[in-house]
Order: sequence, then structure tokens, then C-alpha cells
Amino acid sequence: MLLINNKTNLEHQYFIVEMFHSIQGEGFWSGENSFFIRLAGCDVYCPWCDQKETWSMKKYPFLTLEKIINNLTNINTQHIIITGGEPLLHDLFPLTKSLKNLGYKTHLETSGSHIFSGEFDWVTFSPKPYKKPHESIYNQVSELKIVINDQNDLMWAESEAQKLPINIPKYLQPQWENPDSQELIFDYILNHPQWRLSLQTHKFLGVR
Ligand code: SF4
Repeated sequence: MLLINNKTNLEHQYFIVEMFHSIQGEGFWSGENSFFIRLAGCDVYCPWCDQKETWSMKKYPFLTLEKIINNLTNINTQHIIITGGEPLLHDLFPLTKSLKNLGYKTHLETSGSHIFSGEFDWVTFSPKPYKKPHESIYNQVSELKIVINDQNDLMWAESEAQKLPINIPKYLQPQWENPDSQELIFDYILNHPQWRLSLQTHKFLGVR
């Protein structure tokens, strides 16, 4: 039986691409046993996106909170990562309130391109120049992670970093399909030590 605050509406629904148990592959929490909830829908349209199949919500099931939470039974982690697509296309308060009532740690991965919603213990902010972030994200950020495809993205990274407190961990992550981006980042970090390298270790391991 679910021990959830009665005020949480378990009939609230979300378009779900997939839910799975894995290890976080990138950023500050790389290596952490985590459960992923991937929401459908994105209107940022990054040309190198590795999740293009998530852009349209239509082809995915519209699941109630109750059904979503039932997937957590027997999963041995407290760390829940809500990712996408762009999760902030949806009202994340019902989902995160339910998860927190059950004692889970909530973690959001977002481009910040829509108004912020939800109750999160950690927010990975990965802004994209293709759709500028909404102002509501900037006081919610726990880490900044910028995908680097070319030199212009380094300028974008610096401009977004200036809007955040200096002590927030800041990562540059190579665009997986572009090997040149690895060298670009390596050289850049040697000269700009405020940045750290983030690698998509799950892709090296061939897992989700
Ligand atoms: S914001 Fe994320 S999901 Fe959306 S297009 Fe860009 S990389 Fe893909």
C-alpha cells in the first residue's frame, strides 16, 4: 500500500518514454545507483540530440502517478532522476511531491527552457542556445552542465556560468557524435580550471 499524503493526486498523469534502474553516467552524480523516469516532449530541438525520439509526446503512454510509482517497488535506490525530453514542459509538483512523501531524493535534468516546477533535492541545469532558459531556473541550479559541440558552445557555457553562483559545480561534456569536441574541452579546461570534464560513461559501457 502506498503511504502517500492524501493531498497528492495519484490520478495525475504524465507521458512516459521509459523508466529504468541504472547508474548515473554523467555530471556530479556520475556513478550513483539511480532510477530514471524519462518524460516525453521537447521543443528545444538540439540538432545533435541523442533523444530525438522523445520530442513528440503522442506516441507514449499517459500514465497515472500511481502506475509510475508502482515501478519503484523492489528498486534498491533512493535517487530518482527525472529526465527527458524536457521535463519542465510538465507540471512536476505532483510527481515530485509523491516521490518525496515516499522518502526519495528527487533530481531533475533540464534545459530550463520552461517555467520551473517541482520539489527537487538536486537540479542539473543544461541550457541550450536553441531555446533560451526561463528566468525561473537560475535560483534552482545545483550543477551546470554544458554539451560542447563547437567553439561557440564554449562562449555559451561562459555566458550561462556568469548567471550562477561561483561555487556551483560546472561541467563541459563532449557531444558524443563529435570526437573533435573532446579535444576542444580538454584544452579548454587546462586553461579554465573552474570547469570540470563530464563524460557519458553509460555510453562507453553500452548501457542506458
Ligand atoms: S534539450 Fe535535451 S531532449 Fe531536448 S533536443 Fe536538446 S538534447 Fe534533446
